[in-house]
Amino acid sequence: MEKAYRLHKLTSAIFNEMDELKKQVEQRGVQVINLGVGSPDQPPAPHIIESMHRALDRLDNYDYPLAGKIELRQALARWYLRRFEVELDPVSEVLVLMGSQDGLAHIALAFVNPGDIVLVPDPGYPIYYASILLAEGDIYPMPLLARNEFLPDLKAIPEDIARRAKLMWINYPNNPVAAVADENFFARVVEFAREFNILVCHDVAYSELAFDGYKPVSFLATPGAKDVGIEFYSLSKTYNMAGCRIGFAVGNPKVLSALNQVKSNIDYGVFKVIQEAGIAALEGPQECVRQNADTYQRRRDVLVHGLAELGWYVPSPGASMFLWAPLPPGYKKSAREFALELLNRTGVLVIPGTAFGEQGEGYVRIALVKDEDTLREAVKRISEFLCTH
Ligand SMILES: *Cc1c(COP(=O)(O)O)cnc(C)c1O
Repeated sequence: MEKAYRLHKLTSAIFNEMDELKKQVEQRGVQVINLGVGSPDQPPAPHIIESMHRALDRLDNYDYPLAGKIELRQALARWYLRRFEVELDPVSEVLVLMGSQDGLAHIALAFVNPGDIVLVPDPGYPIYYASILLAEGDIYPMPLLARNEFLPDLKAIPEDIARRAKLMWINYPNNPVAAVADENFFARVVEFAREFNILVCHDVAYSELAFDGYKPVSFLATPGAKDVGIEFYSLSKTYNMAGCRIGFAVGNPKVLSALNQVKSNIDYGVFKVIQEAGIAALEGPQECVRQNADTYQRRRDVLVHGLAELGWYVPSPGASMFLWAPLPPGYKKSAREFALELLNRTGVLVIPGTAFGEQGEGYVRIALVKDEDTLREAVKRISEFLCTH
């Protein structure tokens, strides 16, 4: 059977290579410390799990869920108002997704025709690229560079490209570069999108994993943002519900309706038991959110301080669950070679920056998804690796 040509474009050589080597290293009996995938290692709070136990016994929770419980959409609207001071109409401005990935993957199918340009951060979260390839659009990478504080330089986008662009992806707090953005940046994005008639899709998955008292803002809090775009919010990171597969698209009603049109041909909604858990998460006690962020903050500090003691200075991020680490001083080879050598010699798995785009060269992404003791062990192993290098 010949696979469709679009699948060839979707394969990621680097992720496959890391996976292969991980298996070999494990076969040698080495305990791999996997700081690769950004999957939360903590469970949801007990009250969220209990809500699912109760919901399981409700017999009206087993039909096709379709558009999502209105109570869930109201809960999300209230949460957005409390947290971001953004008003949302629960009927027309909130769409329930099977994880935000569902929306990130399908939005391009609703708006991008073959040959349309999509502006994508480089480095960027892989689904932004994959969604464009599935819709047969053309990718125009917007470099995220340290000297621009990892914000895209909108002025550097040629005018003819901007005119042909249909959609723009942005994501703050960012994966993989762990950078943050403020209202000023979002205001520039709104202005740019207005001028060139571009749909802005902001991914705000990490808004609640923020450190040292910092509170990320919603793109939709920017005046005019709802006219030009939507935002994707996820319960996966905030409430450790990654396996539940629940998220939201919020904002411009016409855009959401088009996304819903695609989705209504593909799925029949999120299991109502999971929707109940979403309500419990959004409306219940929020201490778990602070505790979760504190956990990542402590891990960040263990790793940043530990690596600094080895002479490897990694910027301490203000939010997200990652370090975006320039390769250690004096390391002359590529990010890919560094990640492969590190995994092979120490069993510590990090992702080469180039897995997320060309501009990721010279960096690795380290996910803070292990407890502090395991991270100390990782530092120890990295220390031996750096000594013999
Ligand atoms: C983890 C993550 C998400 C969340 O995806 P879900 O499908 O909601 O689990 C979205 N965007 C980015 C950048 C992420 O890292």
